[in-house]
Amino acid sequence: MTQPLSVVWLRRDLRLHNNAALYHALTSGRPVLPVFIFDRTILDALDDRQDRRVEFIHQQIEELQTQLARMGSGMVVRYGTPLDVWQELLQEYPIEEVFTNHDYEVYAKERDAQVAGLLAEAGIPFTASKDTAIFDHDEVLTGGQTPYTVFTPYSRRWHDKLNDFYLKSYPTETYFHHFLKVPNRMPVPTLAQMNFAPLGESFPAMTVSDSLLQHYKDTRDLPAKPGTSELSIHLRFGTISIRDLARQARESGSATFLNELCWRDFYFQVLHHFPHVEKHSFRREYDHIAWRNNEEEFDKWCRGETGYPLVDAGMRQLNTIGWMHNRVRMVTASFLCKHLLIDWRWGEAYFARKLRDYDLSANNGGWQWAAGSGTDAAPYFRVFNPTAQAEKFDPKGEYIRKWVPEFNSLRYARPMVDHAMARQRAIDTYKRGLKKE
Ligand code: FAD
Repeated sequence: MTQPLSVVWLRRDLRLHNNAALYHALTSGRPVLPVFIFDRTILDALDDRQDRRVEFIHQQIEELQTQLARMGSGMVVRYGTPLDVWQELLQEYPIEEVFTNHDYEVYAKERDAQVAGLLAEAGIPFTASKDTAIFDHDEVLTGGQTPYTVFTPYSRRWHDKLNDFYLKSYPTETYFHHFLKVPNRMPVPTLAQMNFAPLGESFPAMTVSDSLLQHYKDTRDLPAKPGTSELSIHLRFGTISIRDLARQARESGSATFLNELCWRDFYFQVLHHFPHVEKHSFRREYDHIAWRNNEEEFDKWCRGETGYPLVDAGMRQLNTIGWMHNRVRMVTASFLCKHLLIDWRWGEAYFARKLRDYDLSANNGGWQWAAGSGTDAAPYFRVFNPTAQAEKFDPKGEYIRKWVPEFNSLRYARPMVDHAMARQRAIDTYKRGLKKE
């Protein structure tokens, strides 16, 4: 092949419609070859060889390959380390320019810098666009041009700034005839070739109804109801466009739902500006807390056997379907950090292993919120009461009975720790830790 090409490198934007990088590639004046890399560095480090995220990505890549094959085109899909794969691609294809969308994680930024360096040596421009977030990390700043560290003022500025311009669509379909033509369907490595076995999962729908968005404000805190969108896996891997979703939320008048998308942007920019949060407390003084870190207690929490029904229901929902309702994520996370005094990083890592929507920025933000060590932290002396939370948000116990069928029977575990004692212990331990600063 001698014809100069543009490449679009897909990562967490697995769709052909309304995709910024793809649009720029398709309008670059050269035939476009899409590329996807199953990154060995990430996949080989996963503990479980049945993994919902890998299965989801694999299904999506097959689906994209089918869509492209219908247009007489295809995508190069490889399993390897990104740098090695790019070295191969440069040998195999006359690549003139590479387009991609920003990824805000620390590992991803390092990976992109390495690939950009390799391409630069070959004189190939590497252009990254904003696509995953509505506002990039430098678009919503304080008057002094510094990043916000508290959500409420950030969200005020975010909502003020939001207009049609930021939600406009990239009409990629107009230019689909610019995809490179290939004679045959291009191969996709199988799950088995990457040492994974399928779970045979079915995943949530890619759409949300206007009616759910309109009632979201009243239903979103009730885990027994299908009151949230369950779009998190699609937002994580970009199978839907954040701009399409935000437009729908605006048109259906759901300010509360739009605000959740604002939280998502907020945590992206926290991770970008304060990368230390990946390993440390956002507020450094919280790194002095003397965690108890009892492994047996941690195992009970993981298995959903704490004797606190809402905590147990949440953990079993997570272990069974790889998703947990947001209200229950808050309660289970708080229970681990405060009632058991286990380092939030242990819980964060467990969620990272299990969540089908695992996203470093939101997960880290959620955990640091629960531990009180993050941005916008609730004062540490506010400790969720898991029983009161259950009475308020699952008053009929429907959610609890679904995931903890032995609830209310003699077989159900007794609370592993007394609430009043644990609350006081948490307050005392935090107080001592924070004094050390
Ligand atoms: P909806 O209520 O329908 O919200 C729509 C979308 O808004 C979500 O899909 C998500 O993309 C975004 N969103 C909602 N709430 C938040 C939030 N607090 N922070 C950031 N984005 C938000 N979300 C993840 O996507 N990945 C994670 O790994 C993750 N880990 C979490 C860990 C803890 C301890 C906590 C308290 C929250 C975590 N969240 C995480 C945020 C939130 O719980 C999920 O986004 C939400 O439950 C996903 O379900 P949904 O799609 O039905 O959400």
